[in-house]
Order: sequence, then structure tokens, then C-alpha cells
Amino acid sequence: MHPTRWGDPTAAAPLPDSARGLIELAFGLDERPAVDHPSLPASELDEARLDGLRDLLGAEHVLTDDETRRLRTRGKSTPDLLRARAGELGDAPDAVVRPGGHDDVAAVLAFAVEHHLAVVPFGGGTCVTGGLAARRDGYTGVLSLDLVRMKRLLAVDPVSMTATLEPGLRGPEAEALLAGHGLMLGHFPQSFEYASIGGFAATRSSGQSSAGYGRFDSMVVRLTAATPSGRLDLGAAPASAAGPDLRQLVLGSEGVFGVITSVTVRVRRLPETSVYDGWRWPSFAAGASAMRTLAQAGLLPTVIRLSDEAETAINLARPDEIGSDSAAGCLMITGYEGTPAAVEARRSAVGSVLAGLGGTDLGEEPGRSWLEGRFRAPYLRDSMLDVGVLVETLETATWWSNLDRLYADVKAALEQTLGEGTIVLCHISHVYETGCSLYFTVAAKETDDPLAQWGEAKTAAGEAIAAAGATITHHHAVGTDHKPWYRREIGDLGVAILRAVKAELDPTGILNPGVLIP
Ligand SMILES: Cc1cc2nc3c(=O)[nH]c(=O)nc-3n(C[C@H](O)[C@H](O)[C@H](O)COP(=O)(O)OP(=O)(O)OC[C@H]3O[C@@H](n4cnc5c(N)ncnc54)[C@H](O)[C@@H]3O)c2cc1C
Repeated sequence: MHPTRWGDPTAAAPLPDSARGLIELAFGLDERPAVDHPSLPASELDEARLDGLRDLLGAEHVLTDDETRRLRTRGKSTPDLLRARAGELGDAPDAVVRPGGHDDVAAVLAFAVEHHLAVVPFGGGTCVTGGLAARRDGYTGVLSLDLVRMKRLLAVDPVSMTATLEPGLRGPEAEALLAGHGLMLGHFPQSFEYASIGGFAATRSSGQSSAGYGRFDSMVVRLTAATPSGRLDLGAAPASAAGPDLRQLVLGSEGVFGVITSVTVRVRRLPETSVYDGWRWPSFAAGASAMRTLAQAGLLPTVIRLSDEAETAINLARPDEIGSDSAAGCLMITGYEGTPAAVEARRSAVGSVLAGLGGTDLGEEPGRSWLEGRFRAPYLRDSMLDVGVLVETLETATWWSNLDRLYADVKAALEQTLGEGTIVLCHISHVYETGCSLYFTVAAKETDDPLAQWGEAKTAAGEAIAAAGATITHHHAVGTDHKPWYRREIGDLGVAILRAVKAELDPTGILNPGVLIP
């Protein structure tokens, strides 16, 4: 990963002409080159402490060079990228340490407690909510605890259909190891290529196939975490009435209670076949209502997503075709995976419901093209930042009965704060019997201070979400950015519970200080 851009620089293609034309027309082109190798402050760790860490992990796993520290600074939100592009890497870690297993992690935590060093667990570094930007003040230094060496498939239980994975495995690495056993996890967030198993668990991530395979937190049946107070092994059976489910305290805890050192996940057999289709709806409301009907009938495909009118018009669901002509209405993508018989049965049942509700079957081409382009959109954000267009996303979730209000209020809040010419796009990609998530993408001409510009828009959107009674995040997690609204969502007593757990597991507060807990 590059410090100021997404993904693999060699995979980043220039903007398609159609997209460039559209951007020029909408915003004008205002070249804003990024600082290529932003400089960073010198490491504050003295040789004595570095030697202590080297004794624990081996010298090759304690790194203080600029390039490594640069790549472990913050995550990949647009504000993160804007700061890096402007050369601001003031909150770089002082050292990057790479434990090889649970015991190494525990040893680093004990060392950090002794020396009062802040520790930031680092998986894929794709966080978009400030969860990697721990507070420095009051600590003698900051360690990035990079889990990159912990990449083993520890166990497979083909009878129970579970697998135990180490946290440093990136999405494709985990799927490749499981595929060797004819199995799959089925977790495909847009950040799939770079994000890690530990990160998925620590943020309660949700992938594009969530309708079929579930959210990541619903896949985890057992987990192990290293905390400054000791080891946690949680999850004794597939279901249990033995008190509150403590696994849920660790899932979504964003590294503030402990470091997740392994997860046991339920797995599926690799699908024998897959088919993706496109459907057109006359309006977003009609498409959303059809999604609700499917969810409540227990008839969901493996993938189902619906773009609103604006997102459909711009072709965001098919990044290589942005700006080219697209049909009116709202595009829905449905995907089915499994055995040929199961796929055919589900596709035909879903198809008759959708056709009966007024959807138009567009055949397989839109579905195929979505599948091919589904990990490409983040590269477009870099190309747009290069020409002075601010692009960012935010997401939320609510009950079906509150969907129209939430959609209208968040859209209005973003349009009003960012002003005329702002483009606000939205889609639904995670659905439940009782409700769904909304995912907004925003593009606006950058002002001279794009960080402040986005800050104002994000605050307005957060206020609209809170006022509508929705959650501040369906899958991006809390980090530092969502803390004010998280407090309102869980109340003062909820915050007090989190603090009590923190005091028990991490009494000196070394783990990810300033993240998650309001
Ligand atoms: C372009 C883009 C697209 C995205 N698309 C999606 C999407 O479709 N769905 C989705 O859910 N999210 C998405 N995200 C957000 C992000 O990818 C997820 O939050 C992901 O789960 C983070 O995983 P990671 O390995 O990169 O974690 P990191 O960014 O490294 O860390 C995230 C947080 O978890 C903590 N952490 C990491 N590993 C551990 C561990 N082993 N133990 C304890 N704490 C740990 C970190 O300290 C940090 O607070 C997207 C992000 C980007 C930039």
C-alpha cells in the first residue's frame, strides 16, 4: 500500500475518459499533486527500549525506518489521505513491531505496560474512522503492533465446518488457504484485497455477500485475545446460555480491550457455480421495498445491492463505465452462489418475486460487470483527489420503517453543507429482516481547506443520522471519528460499562488510547 493512495500503485489505472469528462463538467479540473514521500518526526524510542523489544521479537521484527513507519500511519479515510497528501504524518508510530504469535503479542503488551508505551494493533491499515490514530500524549512512545507475520490457518474442522485463522491474514490469503480444503469464508468487503482477518473482527466488518454469508461478527464462533491482564479464550459451543456472550465484547472492540490473536470462523463449501443478474426499478423506494419483501420472506440471494437514481445515473456500481450513458431508474444487482440446483432454485424464486413487484430483468451483463469492477472504486477516489475533487463515503443503518426519513435527511444534510454542485450517491448493500444499511458516496469540488470542508459535512450527516435514530455506523466502526455520536447511541451508562471493561483488561490504558471509548 502507498502512504497517500489506495492499494497497489501498479493496479491504479488513469480515470476512464468518460469519467474524466464528467468530472471536468461537474467540478472543473484543479490538479492537486500529493507530496510523494511525506516526512515524519524522528522516532522517540531510545536504544535501550528498542533493544528490549529486539530481545523479545528479534531485531528484524522491530522496525524504525521511515518507510515502514509511514505505511503504518493512520488508515485510508479521505481525511487520512488528505493529511498524508499534504505531507502531515505527525502521528506516525515510533516503531513497528511484528510479533510471530500469541505469546509474542502478550510479551509486547507486558513490555508496553512496563514502559507506558501506547500500542496500536495494525492489520491491513484500511480503517476509515481514525481507529489507527491513537493518542500520543501521556505515553512514552507509540508502537504499531503489525500482525503481518501471524498468517497461519491454524486448524480446519470439516465436520463442524469451522476454521481457525490468525489475524494477519489478508482477505485473499485467508480465502486461498481455505480453498485448499475446498472451503471458503465468503467475506468480501470492498477493502477485501488489503484488510485482515483481525481487522474484520475488531471492526465488525460487513462484506458484499452479507445477504448470503452474513456479517463477519456473525461468522466468528470462537476467538482468542491477548490483553494486558491475561489471555481470553471465548466461545465453547455453537450456542450457549452461559451468561452474556463475551465474544461480543471483543468483536468490534477496535484494539482497545486486547489484541485478537486468532478467530475460529464457520466456513462454507466452495460454491460450484455463481450467477449475477441486474434488475431495474422505477425508483429507489420500489427497489428497497422489494429487498424488504425478499428479506422478510427468507429469500435473499447471496449478494443483493440497490443503487439510488443518482448512483445508477453515474454508473458507480460499474466503475469502468462511470460517466457513460446509463439507463434511468435504479439498478439492483443480485448474485447467487452454491450448487447448480440451489442457485437455479433461488434465482428462479427471487426472479419471480422481483418481476411480480415491478422489477425489470436486465440479464447477466450488469451483474458480471459489477463483479469485475467491485474492488476498483477506491482507486477512483485517488484520481479524483488528484484533480481537486473531494470524495468520501459514510454509512449507517436503520429499521425499514425509518428508511425513507434517514435517506432524505442524510442526503439533505450533505447537500446543504457541501453546497451547490455536490453529488450525493447512495446504495443499500446489507439487508436484514428488520432493516438495512445505507451507504453514501459524496463528491464535491475541494475548497482550500478540504479537511474542514469534509469535517463540516460529516458532522451534519452524523447529526442527521442521530436525529433520525439510526446507528452512526453499520460496518466502518467507531474509531475516533464517530465517538461523539457513539456516546449518544449507547448513553452514559453504556460508556461507563466500556470504561469498566477497559479498566479490567487494560488497567494502564496502553491499548489504542483515544479510540472507540467516548
Ligand atoms: C476503500 C475501502 C473500502 C472499504 N470497504 C469496506 C466494506 O465493504 N465493508 C467493511 O466492513 N469495511 C470496509 N472498509 C473499512 C475497513 O476495510 C474495515 O474496517 C476493515 O475491517 C479493517 O480491517 P484492517 O485489517 O484493515 O484493520 P486496520 O485498519 O488495520 O484496523 C482497524 C481497527 O482495528 C484494530 N485492529 C486491527 N487488527 C486487530 C487485532 N488483531 N486485534 C485487535 N484490534 C485490531 C486497529 O487498531 C484499528 O482500530 C473499507 C475501507 C476502505 C479504505
